[in-house]
This record gives sequence, C-alpha cells and structure tokens, in this order.
Amino acid sequence: MNKKIKRIIAGTAVSLLTLSAVFMTSSVNSTSIAAESPKVTEAAITDAPKYVFLFIGDGMSYPQIQAASDYLGAVGQNRNSKVLTGNKYLDFMKFPVAGSAVTYDSTSFCPDSASTATSLSTGHKTYSGTINMDETQTVAYETISEKLKKQLGYKIGIISTVNLNHATPAAFYSHQASRNNYYEIGLEMVQSNFDYFAGGALKNVTGNDKTKPQEDLYTLATKNGYKVIKTQAEASKLTSDSGKAIVIGETLADSDSLSYANDVKANEWELKDYVKKGIEVLDNDKGFFMMIEGGKIDWACHANDAGSTIADTIALDNAVDEAITFYNDHPTETLIIVTGDHETGGLTIGYAGTDYDTYLANLTNQKLSYAKFDSAYVKKYKDNKTSFNEVLTDVKENFGLLTETDRDAADNPKLVLTKYEYNLLKTAYEKTLSADSSERSQQEYILYGTYEPLTVTITHLLNNKSGINFSSYAHTGLPVGVFAKGAGADLFEGYYDNTEIYYNLANLLKVK
Ligand SMILES: [Zn+2]
Repeated sequence: MNKKIKRIIAGTAVSLLTLSAVFMTSSVNSTSIAAESPKVTEAAITDAPKYVFLFIGDGMSYPQIQAASDYLGAVGQNRNSKVLTGNKYLDFMKFPVAGSAVTYDSTSFCPDSASTATSLSTGHKTYSGTINMDETQTVAYETISEKLKKQLGYKIGIISTVNLNHATPAAFYSHQASRNNYYEIGLEMVQSNFDYFAGGALKNVTGNDKTKPQEDLYTLATKNGYKVIKTQAEASKLTSDSGKAIVIGETLADSDSLSYANDVKANEWELKDYVKKGIEVLDNDKGFFMMIEGGKIDWACHANDAGSTIADTIALDNAVDEAITFYNDHPTETLIIVTGDHETGGLTIGYAGTDYDTYLANLTNQKLSYAKFDSAYVKKYKDNKTSFNEVLTDVKENFGLLTETDRDAADNPKLVLTKYEYNLLKTAYEKTLSADSSERSQQEYILYGTYEPLTVTITHLLNNKSGINFSSYAHTGLPVGVFAKGAGADLFEGYYDNTEIYYNLANLLKVK
C-alpha cells in the first residue's frame, strides 16, 4: 500500500483513529514524542510485519556510511578522469524511508553501546555501561525481542560479528547493571530460549573470576536444549527443524570475534552467511525478529583504521542484501531497519593536509586490519627487534605507503611519505619497540590512543593521505541514520530520539 492511499484511509477511518489514540496513551512513555506524531496513525492501519530485521552498525553514523559509499565511487572512477563520477550508494541507502536518531544517554552526549542498545530494545535511557536496567540499577526493562517471543511467539535470532555476550547483542536478552558482567550475561543468554545465536565466541565462559571457575556457559547451553555448533560444516546443516542453536564462528580473530571483512579468507563465513542461515533456521508461520550487529565497525573506528571501517560497513550492507532477498519474497510482511547505535572515532571526510581533495582509492592498498597487522607482524618485530627498514617493506606490502627513494615512488606519488610523515612513523616504531608499559603522556595518548604506536600511525598516515581523518579514539555525539523498508517503514521518517525506534516497533508489532 503506498503512502498516499494509507493517508486517505487514515483520514476516513475515524473509529480506527480513536482506537489508536487509546492504544498510544496506554503504551507510550509520557516523554515520548511519538504520541504527537501524525505518522502514528499510519501504524495503526499497517498490518504488523511478520518478519523484522534490525541491523545495527556499531559505531556507524553518517561518516562511516558516506565514507564507504564515496570509497566505492572512488575505486570505480577512471584514474585519469578529472571529473568526479560520484559515490556509489550502499543498498540500504536506497531504502525508501530515511530518518535520524539522536543517541545521548543518561551519562553522556557521547554514549556507549550498552545504553544506546537499551534505548533501541526497550525505549529507555540509562547510564553508559548499563544493559536494560534503570539508573538505580534495580528495575529491569523487558526487551522488544523478549516481548515478541512471549506475546506473539515469534522466533528470535541474535547475530553479531563480536562476542555474543558483548553489549549490543546482550541488550536484546539480558539485564545487567554492568556490561562487564559477561558470565551473568551469558547465563541470561543460555536461559533466554531464543532460537538462533550466531557470531563471535562467548567471553568469560567459566566466570568473570578466573580463580573461581563456574560451570562452562556452553555446557549450560547444551543442558538448556541448545545445539552448540563451532564448525561451518555443522552450521550449514541447520534447518528450521533443528531446534535452538548457538553458532560460534569457526575462525576467530581478535578477542575471539569474527574476522574483519578485510581479513576474511576464502570460504570463511561472513556476516551475510550467518544472516542467510538465520533466515533458514527462523522461518516459520508465526514470524521472526532478527537483530544483526556489525560490531567491528566500532572496533575499527576506535583504532582509527578507516580501511577496515569501510570494509566492515560494506560487509554489513552485504548482509542487508540477504534480508532484501527475503523481503522480495514477502514484501507485505517484512520490515527491514538499518541503523547505528552511536558514532565512533569522529570520522570525517576531509583532512587539513589535503584540503578540498580526497584520494580514497589509496585505501585499496590496505590488505589487512590493524588487528591482524598487530598479531601477524608487530609481535614478531618486538621479539626480533626488527630494523625499521625491514618494517618499511611490510608497510609498503600491506598498506601501500612508500619512501621517497622507493623504486615505485614515481608511479604512486599520493602514497609517498613526506619527511614529516616518515619521522612520525619512525618515532612511533621506536615507541612500539620500547615496550614501555608506563602510562602514556597526554601527547602520546593523542598520537596513539591505547593502540600499538606503529600500527595506529600507519593507519593515521594512510587515512590522511586518502583525505580522511579521525578526531577521537572514543564515541562521539553525532546522530545516526535510520533506513527503513517494508511494512511500517514510514514510521521511521524524521529526526527523533533513539528510544522512538523501540516505540515505533512496539506499536507496529502490537506488543505491550
Ligand atoms: Zn565502541
């Protein structure tokens, strides 16, 4: 049904409007702006979507999306053309409805994933670091996914590229004063009765206190009727008849998460593969709700690694494509939402060193993530006290950055390190080798954050030579985009608080 027809019906169906007004006052928080919004009447006459996909790019706001889009445009551009051919839209950017959500929490205008995911899943603001509990840490909030399971019998899927008991996935099934209560969060996960979990391994499987091990969370999951699956071969056999399943990635990367898109090997499952399998497992007559987190967009932004940020944003878009394929078979019954929880890193397109120019295609020279470079190269450098000249060979191989005297310098002028840049890199390498674990000075923190000085300086130099920059190693206060397609999508138009995403979903799905 198109928007115009719906508005005509909304204008004539007086009894429906009255009903919807009663419904709104009873179920919407008094501080909510949804009750004043004329869009709400459209929700009242839209059939509740049977299938809901909520994609969350962690740390993904407008800069991450637009940088990925511009990058794809730049790499498709003829190198010799002086005329910019523009960006290439990610598929979710083409959704018919776009809105913006404000992200502050009860602690800060630069909130964290625990509180912002609480807002998305329960419609409440709370402190940074808190998951689905109020500011007194005594009241637990029921989540949209718990309500859908209990009230409508929907099957529930929770997918993340990071640990399944990390803040964002946890905010759909757990209630904890601290996001660091990994074991307790894991306990709530294995007791959730949700149908499909897939992603990185659980943190603290035998408890938060290593000296007093508790019962293994995977053992408890099995006792609670879950199939715990750790290989792709087994995962590929799952069907809608398999029962409850927890799928852990076969190839785990930093902190036992799934690999960065930049590091994925041939045949290794990516986020899209877990979504595709999730659709097969969850498909049923009552409906399903699937939350899919691209968690490593955030990790890459914390580390100021633009190449990995862009690759993981594109990987999230590829996962959205699986939902679009499903939508095409069920267009009147499916809702797809793509949003972020907050911005990370203060990413900007544009840099003081390049003024009005960008050279985004430089980023094609980055072959791996900062984390992979740390584990595969920097560790060896520290053990062997590798010479700076040898390191420069790896920097060229993996990031494309060259010295003035390199034989390929003339062919790649945009990647040649100036004296100033060369010295920044050399100083950073000395800092990396010094293995000085003492607290970093203010200057060192601004230069390197808490990261490996060599690696973060390499990504800073490549970012800047590409015409982009980060201003923080933490989260920032930008609003996030909300892209919607399908049944009830019109509700997500406008500029609103992030809690409205929950209220719109709850009203649309008719859960209390
Ligand atoms: Zn973060």
